[in-house]
Amino acid sequence: MRLLLVEDDESLAAGLKQDLSRAGFAVDVAHDGIDGEFMGNEVDYDAVILDLGLPKKPGLDVLADWRKQQNTVPVIVLTARDAWNERVDGLRAGADDYLGKPFHVEELLARIDAMIRRRDGRAGGSLEIAGLVLDEERQQVTDATGTRHPLTGTEFRLLRYFMNHPDKVLSKNKLTEHVYEDDADRDSNVIEVYVRRLRDKLGNEQIRTQRGQGYVFTGNNRGSI
Ligand code: CA
Repeated sequence: MRLLLVEDDESLAAGLKQDLSRAGFAVDVAHDGIDGEFMGNEVDYDAVILDLGLPKKPGLDVLADWRKQQNTVPVIVLTARDAWNERVDGLRAGADDYLGKPFHVEELLARIDAMIRRRDGRAGGSLEIAGLVLDEERQQVTDATGTRHPLTGTEFRLLRYFMNHPDKVLSKNKLTEHVYEDDADRDSNVIEVYVRRLRDKLGNEQIRTQRGQGYVFTGNNRGSI
C-alpha cells in the first residue's frame, strides 16, 4: 500500500518515512502544500498523512481542495497538541481522523490501519479473505489448512494489496506502484518472481494470470489448497 506524507519538518518526515516503510508501506513525501496537493491528485494513494502547518499552501486548503475535486483518499491530519479548533477545522474540511503532535508512531500506524479498514468496509483485526488470514503485525499468512507462512517484506506488501483488491484485474504496473518504495526498484518483471513465490505458498489457483493484463487474486478460493 502506498502512503503520501505531507510534512515540512524534514527530520520528522524522514523518521516517519522510515517507520512507515518498516511497517510495510511504500511512502512518498512532500514538504509543502503545493507539491502535496499535486501528488495527492496524481497518484492513487491508500491514505495521506497531512500536516496542517505547511509552507506555500496550508494543509486545510489542500484538504478542502481535494474534497472539492471529489478526491476521497483517506486523510489523517497532524495538528498541534492542544489545538482543539484545528481538529474541528480538519474534520470539517474532510479529514477522516486527526492526531496531535507529538505522537507515538504506533498510534499513527494503528490509526492508518483503522482508516484503511473503514475504507474497505472491514470491521477490524486481521485481513481475512479466501480462507487466508493475514497477520499484519507479524507479516505472516495462515492458509485454510491452518499452516502459517512467514512472508518477506515484499511478499507481505504484495499479498496485502491482492487481499484488499480481490477478483480485480491488477496490472503489473499497478502492483509495482503499490509494492515498491523507490522508482529505482520499480521493475515490473520482478512482480512475476514474487507472484511465483506467493503461489508456492498459497497454491496456483489463488493468483490467476490474466494474459496480457495482469493478475487476479481469487476472493472465494476457500479450502482449495
Ligand atoms: Ca508544519
